[in-house]
Amino acid sequence: MMPATGAASLEDAYGVRNYDPLPVVITRGEGCWVEDADGNRYFDSLSAYSALNFGHRHPRLIEAARRQLDRLTLTSRAFRNGRLGEFCARLATACSMQRVLPMNTGAEAVETAIKAARKWGYRVKGLTPGRAKIVVCNGNFHGRTTTIVSFSDDPAARTDFDPFTPGFVSVPFGDSAALETALDGETAAFLFEPLQGEAGVIIPPDGYLREARELCTRANVLMVADEVQSGLGRTGRMLACDHEGVAPDLVLLGKALGGGILPVSAVVGSDEVLGLFRPGEHGSTFGGNPLACAVALEVLDLLADEPLSDNAIELGASFSDSLRAAAHPAVTEVRQRGLWIGVDIRAEAGTARSACEKLLAVGVLAKETHEQTIRFAPPLTTSADELDWLLERVNLVLAGL
Ligand code: PLP
Repeated sequence: MMPATGAASLEDAYGVRNYDPLPVVITRGEGCWVEDADGNRYFDSLSAYSALNFGHRHPRLIEAARRQLDRLTLTSRAFRNGRLGEFCARLATACSMQRVLPMNTGAEAVETAIKAARKWGYRVKGLTPGRAKIVVCNGNFHGRTTTIVSFSDDPAARTDFDPFTPGFVSVPFGDSAALETALDGETAAFLFEPLQGEAGVIIPPDGYLREARELCTRANVLMVADEVQSGLGRTGRMLACDHEGVAPDLVLLGKALGGGILPVSAVVGSDEVLGLFRPGEHGSTFGGNPLACAVALEVLDLLADEPLSDNAIELGASFSDSLRAAAHPAVTEVRQRGLWIGVDIRAEAGTARSACEKLLAVGVLAKETHEQTIRFAPPLTTSADELDWLLERVNLVLAGL
């Protein structure tokens, strides 16, 4: 093998190729913008799958991290730290809930919720031991652990990774009648994304979240909303469930909760469910560390202080209006909620991947999901001028497909 040099070839030579990145090596970032080593600038309209909701290196988040770095970074939960209580109180209040269980990644929050729901099923609902069922949706994406891929229907996520964890039943997303049939006396929880992000920004029919809430209540089943990608302002509300005024029993947050600085996730819920955990039954060395708490507290302050959700609503509408008005022949559908946009392109116009390569060539970073969908999720801090800049290029590329 030739000696590898340069960031991309070193990564290819020594890293595991479990991603297929676009051919750009980013070395700096600020706000919506990133730069490669040659000083070329790009607009980051993926925002690390919404983990960068506040853009790159938001000054308030960097300052909060710096202040905490100078004092204390990690204690483990063997001891208390000075920031965890404050973080739990603030996040519980922001979600109008009672308790918070901090973890690190989104997948860990999902795993935590599965354990919490099963425990509640046995201890409170009185399910037959070993029989707790969790209903999920077709097309879901909740992470990559072995239990989570057990209820994925994406062959790439599953193939060669069996045997799978039992206890999950999948129903079509957005179909209340199917959900009603699936919720039975053995069901502990309904786990769902209020909008399916990785599936292509799929928005359920109006009223679905409210109906799901009613069905879960009637069947005495926990409603567990995975808001790891949809939460914290992305859709124009604190939570995507807020669009229908629905309060789930458990809410899962991640990605943007870490301010684009470090992984922070959490399960937020009622005392009846989360109060069941006893010492030793669940945990994480890094979960609830003081640095994570300090950054997440600043994230919550930013969301409270700045009209980022309003900006997401306004700019998101401009985004989809502009694409629809252009009526690009290559585009078959535009789906949008807040600053989250899925654009389907015709197979004859090429793949979404090739469209993303063309976007890269004009200074726009975006990412395909599945074969024919481009997904855009610009930072919530994007200005109207920056959006105009972005739209000019996106329209240029879509027109040329
Ligand atoms: N849940 C949802 C809805 C997600 O979109 C993702 C990641 O894209 C996850 C969970 C997993 O998060 P992580 O990659 O931090 O484990």
